[in-house]
Amino acid sequence: MHDVIIIGAGPAGLSTAFWCDELGLDTLVLEQAEEIGGQLHRVHNPINNYLGLKAHNGKELLDRFAAEVDGAEFDLWTQTAIDSVELRAKRVSLASGEELQAIAIVIATGVRPRELGVPGEKEFVGKGIIESATRDRDLFAGNDVCVVGGGDAAVENALLLAEGCPTVTLVHRGKKLRARPEFREKLQGTHCITVFTESVLTRIIGDERVVAVEIQRKQGIKPFQVAVGGVLIRIGVEPNTALFAGQLETDEKGYILVNNQQESSVPMVFAIGDVSNPLAPTISSATGAGATAAKVIASRLNASS
Ligand SMILES: Cc1cc2nc3c(=O)[nH]c(=O)nc-3n(C[C@H](O)[C@H](O)[C@H](O)COP(=O)(O)OP(=O)(O)OC[C@H]3O[C@@H](n4cnc5c(N)ncnc54)[C@H](O)[C@@H]3O)c2cc1C
Repeated sequence: MHDVIIIGAGPAGLSTAFWCDELGLDTLVLEQAEEIGGQLHRVHNPINNYLGLKAHNGKELLDRFAAEVDGAEFDLWTQTAIDSVELRAKRVSLASGEELQAIAIVIATGVRPRELGVPGEKEFVGKGIIESATRDRDLFAGNDVCVVGGGDAAVENALLLAEGCPTVTLVHRGKKLRARPEFREKLQGTHCITVFTESVLTRIIGDERVVAVEIQRKQGIKPFQVAVGGVLIRIGVEPNTALFAGQLETDEKGYILVNNQQESSVPMVFAIGDVSNPLAPTISSATGAGATAAKVIASRLNASS
């Protein structure tokens, strides 16, 4: 029996674990990936907005988090597949067959990039699918490229790629781009970017590598192809909540609803970080929410002992 089981070892889960440790709680963190850090592995931009700590990228910040894990008392199991979770009973069953029990559960499973679900999307990973313009723009310089999405991330990435690519085709299914005004203004002044609104990317085409994309315009009769050497997809994210489906209240997009103590609709089940925060998904919100959850759990356990 543990005091707390934390599911997910991104910034939110790790912050909770450090706080639980400091507060003397018996804590176990379960992480499905080989390494801790969550989305920090995908942050290739400089992190300038985490107060008191600047980092060139997510990896650098993660290295600082990781350096502290070694000195902490909590248990951390990576590469751990969870089979099922009974939230009301606070029981976690692992794929290995092991059964775990806790007094409180903290869900810190974050979000994952939404997929387009088109042919070629998975096949061309590492063969023309661009993960990040910040990281890969030099690699794709001189290539015509396509960016899918209409929000801040898509437009920012299109602008970065336009610095080195002869043409950038931006495909957005909505009528208007959702990106912030400064990005839209920049876009208007960047002549190598062609924007197709009310359009969807229907196929990524290639052999060894990506050679073209197929686009269907809402008003168009037939899809058409554009020759490109790279495709970057930024169409938002989805919360990782499949394990808990039907067991607690979520919003219509699946984000876990919590009160101001980070507690979900199930008593002593807390949700922190991006999985419960569609409005401000940031490292500082995630770590702050972790501190709140740990403090609340500690005070409840102290009150009941
Ligand atoms: C490209 C990019 C740039 C960003 N730049 C910034 C920035 O400059 N500043 C900033 O503040 N934020 C930035 N962010 C956002 C920031 O990375 C996230 O807000 C933060 O990582 C959220 O932390 P989290 O712990 O809630 O979730 P995550 O980082 O998503 O971690 C969740 C963890 O849970 C694990 N997990 C999921 N499901 C399970 C399961 N079933 N069992 C066990 N483990 C599971 C995952 O493997 C992962 O390790 C950026 C994000 C991206 C993608």
